[in-house]
Amino acid sequence: MENNKNLRNWLNKMDLAHPIVIAGPCSAETEEQVLKIAHQLKETDATVLRAGIWKPRTRPGNFEGVGALGLKWLQKAKEETGLMTATEVANANHVDLALKHDVDILWVGARTTVSPFIVQEIADALKGTDKIVLIKNPVNPDLALWLGAVERFYACDVKNLGVIHRGFSTYEKTRYRNNPEWQIPIDLQNKFPDLPLILDPSHIAGRRDIIFELCQTALDLNYDGLMVETHFDPDKAWSDAEQQITPATLKQMTIDLRIRKQEGDAVEFKNKLNTLRTKIDVLDHQLLESLGKRMKISEDIGVLKKNNNVAILQTKRWNEILGKMILEGEENQLSEEFILKIFKAIHQESINHQKMVINE
Ligand code: PEP
Ligand code: MN
Repeated sequence: MENNKNLRNWLNKMDLAHPIVIAGPCSAETEEQVLKIAHQLKETDATVLRAGIWKPRTRPGNFEGVGALGLKWLQKAKEETGLMTATEVANANHVDLALKHDVDILWVGARTTVSPFIVQEIADALKGTDKIVLIKNPVNPDLALWLGAVERFYACDVKNLGVIHRGFSTYEKTRYRNNPEWQIPIDLQNKFPDLPLILDPSHIAGRRDIIFELCQTALDLNYDGLMVETHFDPDKAWSDAEQQITPATLKQMTIDLRIRKQEGDAVEFKNKLNTLRTKIDVLDHQLLESLGKRMKISEDIGVLKKNNNVAILQTKRWNEILGKMILEGEENQLSEEFILKIFKAIHQESINHQKMVINE
């Protein structure tokens, strides 16, 4: 897969003036709902209608999709609007039914990508197909598992491939429903620059108000497209109501987003600079998050020391840390002088945090 330059042929052939926009409801609910959304999307930049027909729900009892019946609605929406269609397939039977109903893009969901057995079953069912297959990242932050799924399809002679970044689940509640962990798709982009990368801001956000900023970050990182959950009455959607936006909001969003075109020397320079800066911003954000977590652990140690009447400063332990970090710094091409400066500052901040809890 490494040296293949044709992975993005399907996208180039579409000859779009902007990153590809896939939009539509989380779930197909009724024929009227699918058709109404499709017609509204005709007024936006979207060229592909998405709708879940079979819904993998984490807990039973939630809406699990209308099933094969909904494929007829997608077909009708395509006839009436000319939009391409996309749906999730989670086993060989889904593949069979989707192909019979001429679905254009099949995607593999996050709960499926985690299972090599099911991925293989789907890849076998799609052997040699010309259909476009998009693979969502697995629910857990594991790049190898994600790439492994892509490789299984590639080995089955499925050439029109792409991936969808939908974030990674965490046990702790964060700002996101699924943590973006931008570094993972950035690593993937570095390894496979020809593999089209699409952002699903809806499942990362789990809420409407941060969808725009997620899309902007993705475009700044040169993503190839967006897949956005869209419904004419988001609050009444049968699944994922909190994260869906209306086609009108989607339209405004694509007008407001800065989409960078790849032409001209000056523009190209600026684009590249912007992409690199966004990568730095992602790493800076991670640095601060890690430092924040480190200070919280220091505070826990502070409480422990207080309860056991132990002094804050433990010189032996500190010298051990410094020695270890100087060695690890060397492995990462970081000078001893820099490591000393940075760890002295971290140590001081740690002591301040411990003093705070000890004196409480
Ligand atoms: C979906 O796209 O509606 C969906 C279920 O997504 P994911 O597999 O990313 O959870
Ligand atoms: Mn959904």
